[in-house]
Amino acid sequence: MIDGMNHNLQIIPIPAFKDNYIWLIHNGINAAIVDPGDATPVIDALTSLKLTLTNILITHHHHDHIDGVAELIEVFPQVRVYAPALEQYDFDHVAITEQDTVYLENLNLTFAVIDLPGHTLGHIAYYSNQHQLLFCGDTLFGAGCGRLFEGTPTQMLRSLQKLATLPPTTNVYCTHEYTLHNINFALTLEPNNITLIKRYKNTREKRESNVPSLPSTIELELASNPFLRCSSKEIQSSIQLKNASEIDVFSKLRELRNHY
Ligand SMILES: [Zn+2]
Repeated sequence: MIDGMNHNLQIIPIPAFKDNYIWLIHNGINAAIVDPGDATPVIDALTSLKLTLTNILITHHHHDHIDGVAELIEVFPQVRVYAPALEQYDFDHVAITEQDTVYLENLNLTFAVIDLPGHTLGHIAYYSNQHQLLFCGDTLFGAGCGRLFEGTPTQMLRSLQKLATLPPTTNVYCTHEYTLHNINFALTLEPNNITLIKRYKNTREKRESNVPSLPSTIELELASNPFLRCSSKEIQSSIQLKNASEIDVFSKLRELRNHY
């Protein structure tokens, strides 16, 4: 999957707060960081790996995604920050939206920007077709999706449907380790879904060993994430919404998950 100058491109999770991952992308020399909610663990990781921070990618404006940015800019004054055009930020940044392409020269890595309103109205994702990478913040989670703080269910469902059309082999890097709890919820809806049952066992083993459940893949999400499976007869039956529209099923699932 990785060739040419990027043969050493690596992506590693930096745990932060209770259950966040700050994703670090590096080539052994330069690094980009996705959603640094806390600068301290990022600086520690960059120092121990002897990396120079060249880019910061922001998916949305919540504090646990941006509160480390100002300090990182102080430590690495040359860093270039990308953030959603539809949201307000105090720090210097390049404002981007779906028409834009982000090229990280130091990593020879190109991202398409995908608008994903729902969790927040300006939320974006960064997608590399070449390397099959998706950094999707708090929109798509392992076996789940983000809460609707600003957008409508219709907006969020459309955003998730955009991600569902990406190549199945795309690696999905979410910000939170919610996967096991999401799978437990999903099993109440589809107790006979073989992929979901296998995913439960696999994820439980990983978490018991303190190994991240992420990245996921689009293929795995399509097969086991209830929020991408609103047309499933088993799910519809489980929530007493047989033959309902996808948006009605999605709205009910999100409501049920809020209280699970
Ligand atoms: Zn958020």
